[in-house]
Amino acid sequence: MAESSDRFEFNEENNQDIELSTGFKQWKILSVEDNQNYQAALTSSLASIELPDGVELTVLKAASVYEASSILNAHKDIALILLDVVMEEDDSGLKLVKIIRDELANGLVRIVLLTGQPGFAPEKEVMKALDIDEYWNKADLTLDKLHSIVKSNLRTWNVSSQLAEAKQGLQLVLDAARSINSRYDLPSFTRAVLTEIGNIMGVKKGGLLCIGNNENPYKDTHVLTASGCYTAFEGVAITDSQLVDIRDDINQAFEQKQHKIGATRSVFYFETSHINEKVYVIVVTSDAPITEAHINLLRVFSENISSGFTNIALLNRVTELAYTHLDLNIPNLNWLKKEIQNMSITERQETRLLMIEVKYFDEMKFTFGYEFILNLLKAVYLGLCATFPPPARISLSGHKHFSILIATDIPITQALIHALTFGEFKKDEVVHSTSFTLLDMRLDAVQYTTPAKLISTAESVLKEAVVNNLSYIQNTQRQIDEMSRRYHLMGELRKAIRERKLTVMLQPKLALSSNKVVGFEALARWQRDDGSFVRPDEFIAIAETSGLITMLDNLIVEKTIAALQQLCALGYQIPIAFNASSFDLLHTDYFSKVFNCLSQAGVSPHLLELEVTETQTITDYEKIKATLQKFVDSGIKISIDDFGTGYSSLSRISNITAHCIKIDRSFINQLEQDDVSQHVVNMILTLGKKCDFTIVAEGIETEFQKNWLRSMGCDIGQGYLFAKPMCLEHIVNWLPLQDNA
Ligand code: C2E
Ligand code: CA
Ligand code: CA
Repeated sequence: MAESSDRFEFNEENNQDIELSTGFKQWKILSVEDNQNYQAALTSSLASIELPDGVELTVLKAASVYEASSILNAHKDIALILLDVVMEEDDSGLKLVKIIRDELANGLVRIVLLTGQPGFAPEKEVMKALDIDEYWNKADLTLDKLHSIVKSNLRTWNVSSQLAEAKQGLQLVLDAARSINSRYDLPSFTRAVLTEIGNIMGVKKGGLLCIGNNENPYKDTHVLTASGCYTAFEGVAITDSQLVDIRDDINQAFEQKQHKIGATRSVFYFETSHINEKVYVIVVTSDAPITEAHINLLRVFSENISSGFTNIALLNRVTELAYTHLDLNIPNLNWLKKEIQNMSITERQETRLLMIEVKYFDEMKFTFGYEFILNLLKAVYLGLCATFPPPARISLSGHKHFSILIATDIPITQALIHALTFGEFKKDEVVHSTSFTLLDMRLDAVQYTTPAKLISTAESVLKEAVVNNLSYIQNTQRQIDEMSRRYHLMGELRKAIRERKLTVMLQPKLALSSNKVVGFEALARWQRDDGSFVRPDEFIAIAETSGLITMLDNLIVEKTIAALQQLCALGYQIPIAFNASSFDLLHTDYFSKVFNCLSQAGVSPHLLELEVTETQTITDYEKIKATLQKFVDSGIKISIDDFGTGYSSLSRISNITAHCIKIDRSFINQLEQDDVSQHVVNMILTLGKKCDFTIVAEGIETEFQKNWLRSMGCDIGQGYLFAKPMCLEHIVNWLPLQDNA
């Protein structure tokens, strides 16, 4: 881009083309004199005065104060008054001066007082107060003197009136700049520019402003705004025959990329190519030739226009950036928020939000790279656009999910759900199948204060659905609340685990025959920052579905081993069991982590036990068998937790790599009322004994349960009847009270 286009520069060549009027062409003198003879002599002697080239002198005559005032009223641009002091009255001249300065408020006109009677000369102070420039005795005025007085006063007037005009013009420019800089949209800005240029130049005919594209100014260039005689051209393409008269000027500006000032038509060129590819051409046509003063003003003003165009281009660019995904040129999250923000209440009631997340996005990104992902997203976007034409509003509202705002009366059919959750995408002749998780939510199903809150709720629900491996989820407020609560809980839990804030409670296991404490179970506890406790069932489930479980279990194992260390230090050699999830057991390094921790603490492996629930064990048994075996080989005992709740448990019992079976609490608490439970527990006990398992009954709350189990040969009991889970300090106080000899 040429430097000059950004800044307004009049180049010299251009200046030479311009027909300029050197200031004010007609200079006017008013002679006020009641003596007709003197008046005639005076005015005729003025005719021979030498003046600058192109300046014409007009001499006006008045014979009284009254006549003079009315002439002055009609000719505001009189330069010099030669004023006789004594006319109808002795001080007529001074009265006229007062009228000129005070009533006509003409401070520019030069006044030279003439008098035939020297005694009537005004005081110096009066001269000063009335701004009278000179005082002359008629008798002293030779022709040369008169000429020099007149010339010097005319010169002074010329300079000061130009200054006055410049001052006024500058005010105009300032006003124009102010009016222009308050416009932030292009149409109103350009309209203001035309108006203000018109004001500054005194354009009577009209102006227009074209907007085009830098790459190809002839394509799509059209008149954006127009005024005066050009008004009808607004919106007209530059190629239109209506513009034939001025098209050459416009094209020349596009080609030469500079302003061209002419006597009656000027063309201004601006561009903002450092921000966008826009070019602007302003054409102004005036009735009268413009003056140098006008050009100077335009020079200042056009700087303002130029920066105005730049500002608007920047503003538009920033807006564009803010609302668009740059690589894909797809409306983004900000745009979605804005769209929701701008909806009326009824519109919100009639709108549903579909949020679609690409499944396995991160994996695909990792495997195929960013380029692939961009192609995929673009393809998905185009597909969505085809499925949901406007007025549906589609945006890429996250890095891997799209949001679609559609009317609630558009039915979400099974076919549509299918189309939205499975797709194919072709890249380099290879067809990739993609699947999606779809959230379907009415905007009025959720209470929200800001669009951002609404979107983040939708995102939480969608994440939950993704975690739970769902493809379609439809929501009511209650579900959304619950899901978003859990989602937020997940965030808190992650933080709590990182900060190692989870603690361990120990629940004793007692030998039913002797009431001796034979072990403990370590149970995780989570107290939130607000002091409330979250139930383990709830946070363990959250941890399991969000991939936090391994981190959690590792923390609990460490704390369990630390507790063992402390108990050993106090002389208690009692094993503690910790709970492991099958997710842990699927990690190949799980055993070594636990074992290293144990070795570092110097705790014997036979004091540590691992509990894994039966349901998990059975489904993933083949996969976790090897890991379980490592524990067994190292001397760490294995318990199968919640036994009896899985299907094939009894038939497969003999194959399980474990030492101990824990009968699920649901059977124990039914023992008194329910024959079936007694029957199941009996079978487990019989089979377990046959296979050499130690049998633990959990959840014993009554003496009946305890006695029944003991009579059936159950070895160990755990339950509130004996003790609730306790923290280590309680255990340390509680243990000495037990009959553990
Ligand atoms: P679980 O392994 O079956 O643990 C026994 C649960 O039964 C504990 O609940 C314990 O407080 C409760 N319990 C013990 N005796 C009685 C009783 O007499 N009556 C009743 N009603 N309940 C009794 P808790 O602590 O709420 O833990 C719930 C579950 O959370 C545990 O069930 C276990 O599956 C899981 N869990 C707890 N800590 C961990 C952990 O560190 N890792 C993993 N993966 N899971 C854990
Ligand atoms: Ca357990
Ligand atoms: Ca259990």
